[in-house]
Amino acid sequence: MIDTLHCYIDGKFERSEHYFDNINPVNGEKIADIGEASQAQVDLAVTAAKRALSSKWGAMSVQQRSALLHKVADRIEARLAEFIDAEIADTGKSLYQVETIDIPRAAANFRTFADLAKFYTGETFVTDTATGEQALNYSVNKPLGVVAIISPWNLPLLLATWKVAPALACGNCVILKPSEETSSTAYLLAQVMDEVGLPAGVFNLILGRGKYIGDALTQHPKVDAITFTGASATGKHIMSAVSSGVKPLSFELGGKNAAIVFQDADLDKAVAGVARSTFTNCGQVCLCTERVFVHRVLYQAFVEKLVKAAEAIKIGYPKESNVLIGPLVSKQHQQKVLSYYQQAKKSGAKVLTGGGVPSFGDERDNGCYIEPTIITGLSDEDPINQEEIFGPICHVSVFDDEYEVVERVNNTAYGLAAAIWTENLSRAHRVAPQMDVGLVWVNTWFLRDLRAPFGGVKLSGIGREGGAHSMAFYSEPVNICINIDKHPYDN
Ligand code: NAD
Repeated sequence: MIDTLHCYIDGKFERSEHYFDNINPVNGEKIADIGEASQAQVDLAVTAAKRALSSKWGAMSVQQRSALLHKVADRIEARLAEFIDAEIADTGKSLYQVETIDIPRAAANFRTFADLAKFYTGETFVTDTATGEQALNYSVNKPLGVVAIISPWNLPLLLATWKVAPALACGNCVILKPSEETSSTAYLLAQVMDEVGLPAGVFNLILGRGKYIGDALTQHPKVDAITFTGASATGKHIMSAVSSGVKPLSFELGGKNAAIVFQDADLDKAVAGVARSTFTNCGQVCLCTERVFVHRVLYQAFVEKLVKAAEAIKIGYPKESNVLIGPLVSKQHQQKVLSYYQQAKKSGAKVLTGGGVPSFGDERDNGCYIEPTIITGLSDEDPINQEEIFGPICHVSVFDDEYEVVERVNNTAYGLAAAIWTENLSRAHRVAPQMDVGLVWVNTWFLRDLRAPFGGVKLSGIGREGGAHSMAFYSEPVNICINIDKHPYDN
């Protein structure tokens, strides 16, 4: 187990002036000290990244960079058990999830973008001019420079590497600032970068609390671009804080995602799918469902089965067999989600299951556990149906008509994802593009191809990540125009 986490700056692990506690959400106990970066250390990291950009990383060929990123993936896999333990210690999420999603997908991010970089080429146009001459226009993809990467706590390594891998593959140097709640796998990643011999300054790790060190990083004049995944409120703050610098921004923000269960859905498939989309990772995936709309003919049967599915979920220690749900990430987040449970009851919601904190009669009662919860009876405009809760809760509503449900689903300030459950192919194709979101799943959820576009609309974000979309964000195409004179005899 790691007992002290340090920043990694210019190829060295650095001590900090100030340390804060890393808390295990399973039992509320301290597990490590986290060194918080000072403003001076942020500056050192950015300066080192700038230097490495032209002198080391920039001088390497795409093939050399790609080979190093493959080695990073190999080392993550070689140290799989350590990464799994670190992610579980920080988040309390189940072993099943960490070993099937969080860590393997992080290694896959490095392999995918290492390979894509080799084939990401520019454009070429032959231009005929009005005077009968020609020009050759082509583009060269250059890195943006120093990229600040700010990541959240819900899928810590997966979401950090989703940005680190393409940014490095495109030739940028990076400063990663993971969430203060979940710094351990980012710390291990820094060790891996060191082990594979990434030149000093190419990858830097800055630890600390966003409200103390976030501005020093995002507003640093030598930071060329910012890529952020987190809450919409933090995104708004970053956007206004950096506006004077006019830097490229990529934002993956919150969601208030809906699932629609049409009258022609396969009921059991839909119940299993919505249970998964609501309760995975204790509801702490930006793509999780919080609003469920069910056609009147299936409503009763659907609700009864969904309640049974929720009550069958085993909550417990992350490594206990068959445990699907661990705790929420922190006491603060547990209080936030609980306050929504209480607010829902006050507003007259009917609680079909859950609504409180489970009691274990052991150390876990000091942890951050919460019950999977299903409620009904609130209007679409109620804050419970408008604000992102980010916990294991959904509100179920009845609907009668396709036009009606499309309008109701789109009636939110967010626009990240939607899931449609129907066996009617025409309905699926008709409804999916009408969703005001960046991702629509039909008869599935959280099935991702790393090459496909990922991102949200409205309060859910700006820009797209994934495959060529990430490559496009992390590089700048420069147009080079060569004049081709006519042959002298042709004048
Ligand atoms: P958060 O916004 O509180 O924190 C995210 C990161 O921002 C952390 O590293 C934090 O330290 C940092 N930060 C905080 N204040 C900052 C500041 N002033 N300047 C710079 N950085 C600052 O979010 P969270 O609670 O860690 O994550 C949960 C949120 O993330 C939810 O809203 C969820 O929907 C969203 N999320 C979105 C996606 C997506 O792809 N759209 C994916 C995962 C999570």
